[in-house]
Amino acid sequence: MTTPPAPFIELHDASQTFVGVFIGPELWARTKDAILPILEAAGQEPTDAVSPAAPPAEPLADFETLLAYWDFAYPPAYDLACAQCGAKTEDWRKDEPRKFRLTSANLGGQTSFCCLACRSKIIKRHFKKHVSVDCLPFVDKS
Ligand SMILES: [Zn+2]
Repeated sequence: MTTPPAPFIELHDASQTFVGVFIGPELWARTKDAILPILEAAGQEPTDAVSPAAPPAEPLADFETLLAYWDFAYPPAYDLACAQCGAKTEDWRKDEPRKFRLTSANLGGQTSFCCLACRSKIIKRHFKKHVSVDCLPFVDKS
């Protein structure tokens, strides 16, 4: 006695995580023309936003907010220097390719950057009349 193959099977791995769908050859033959265009169209949609490998977006809006409420005794400056590897820029926003990435900015005047050459963390704190800059070497947390 034979049981007909299931038309399609949802596949799970050992930990019951859903990994995909198997469609049997007969069902696929009958539905391929309808399904294939849908699959192809869905596959072409940009996936950058959900890619787990992509670094988090720079919080540029936070930086813009800091600039909008700027009340320090000096104008904003965009120069950065890495004390660890010597990388530096006159304007971190304009390097091509970029040398530093903004990692955080807040209304209190603290901004943080990552040196893309050596992954050091550069913390630039804005006080009423002066700026302090710290450069912390990259620490592998693993
Ligand atoms: Zn560096």
